[in-house]
Amino acid sequence: MKHLSDNYQDIRDGVRALCAQFPAEYHRNVDEEKAYPEDFVDALTREGWMAALIPQDYGGSGLGLAEASVIMEEINRAGGNSGACHGQMYNMTTLVRHGSEAQREAYLPKIAAGELRLQSMGVTEPTTGTDTTKIKTTAVKQGDRYVINGQKVWISRVQHSDFMILLARTTPLAEVSKKSEGLSIFLVDIKEAMKDGMAVKPIDNMVNHETNELFFDNLEIPEDNLIGEEGKGFKYILTGLNAERTLIAAECIGDGYWFTDKVTAYVSDRQVFGRPIGQNQGVQFPIAEAFIEVEAANLMRWKACGLYDAGQPCGAEANMAKYLAAKASWEAANACLQFHGGFGFANEYDVERKFRETRLYQVAPISTNLILSYVAEHILGLPRSF
Ligand SMILES: Cc1cc2nc3c(=O)[nH]c(=O)nc-3n(C[C@H](O)[C@H](O)[C@H](O)COP(=O)(O)OP(=O)(O)OC[C@H]3O[C@@H](n4cnc5c(N)ncnc54)[C@H](O)[C@@H]3O)c2cc1C
Repeated sequence: MKHLSDNYQDIRDGVRALCAQFPAEYHRNVDEEKAYPEDFVDALTREGWMAALIPQDYGGSGLGLAEASVIMEEINRAGGNSGACHGQMYNMTTLVRHGSEAQREAYLPKIAAGELRLQSMGVTEPTTGTDTTKIKTTAVKQGDRYVINGQKVWISRVQHSDFMILLARTTPLAEVSKKSEGLSIFLVDIKEAMKDGMAVKPIDNMVNHETNELFFDNLEIPEDNLIGEEGKGFKYILTGLNAERTLIAAECIGDGYWFTDKVTAYVSDRQVFGRPIGQNQGVQFPIAEAFIEVEAANLMRWKACGLYDAGQPCGAEANMAKYLAAKASWEAANACLQFHGGFGFANEYDVERKFRETRLYQVAPISTNLILSYVAEHILGLPRSF
């Protein structure tokens, strides 16, 4: 049967060939050792996949979000986890769309060549959570520098990145007319920052996802590291967030296909009561249902990609794609684990690892409830709850 993902075949073939060099054992070992898939990310970078969204003038391949999403989908569909490197893709969109010419020239060619990584984005804070406009990290202009103070939590890939995009408040909340104003984004040189002013504390967590608490104590960064106009950072970061949500939708779709393929093969083979367990409709239906939902999520993913690549507003579609895809991959994960019986819990089948990995996307980068709230209040026009 033709899947909705049977398009962009050249890209799929290229990424599949690379992924085939990193079989399930590789990702399983990385997970068990809580290591970073350094060889895998290096290979993706060397072959140019991580520079998909960098314009050709700066050494990248100048592709759109649709193509970038296919790259991420294929990694997850092959049994890997794009979470190790997806930050590079969506952070790039913020720099490409809102960075100055000088910033684009300084960083993009080096990122495309694999000399620098821009893998991290620092938004979430421990005391404000999803209520992003209330963040307490401040950036105060002093001469030709900004001085940063505050704290972030769950900031991923900091230890495997050279730069981070940081959201901080430059005008106090009490002094702005709209709460989304007065926030700014900065490029932070991570290694420089760790010498003086930024402390990094890793968070051990359920998935093998390198993520950290960050503490800023009078971190000084050059004023040239401000991206775009001061005070407009929230609007800029939304560009990256729409790209992030769409890419993560594609990753969940990749997971969804991985789970449905894996469980279909298993239940066709596993004999209990003298026949394959997949002959029972009680087994078939949850798998079929998950597959239908993955395909439906795919439709919204392509819609979000199309709008984003045309430079049109796509907040609703990006959020809805992420919602549908995360839900579909989670249902596929549950069916896959359930019908592997006890074997689903054995590490060597990779089901429990992928199950943990795909579960994250009900919470991060935006929780399912917050997407429902966005659709209820911003699309349907229901009264605001916050
Ligand atoms: C492994 C991992 C990696 C991450 N990486 C990054 C990163 O690189 N950069 C970054 O900035 N952040 C990152 N995050 C943070 C992530 O984006 C947040 O965890 C997520 O947005 C939810 O915020 P929170 O944890 O503060 O939850 P809270 O805001 O405390 O919410 C907790 C739960 O309460 C519910 N809830 C909250 N408010 C409402 C409401 N108004 N209505 C209904 N329900 C509500 C939701 O179900 C939500 O899941 C990461 C998180 C994880 C776990």
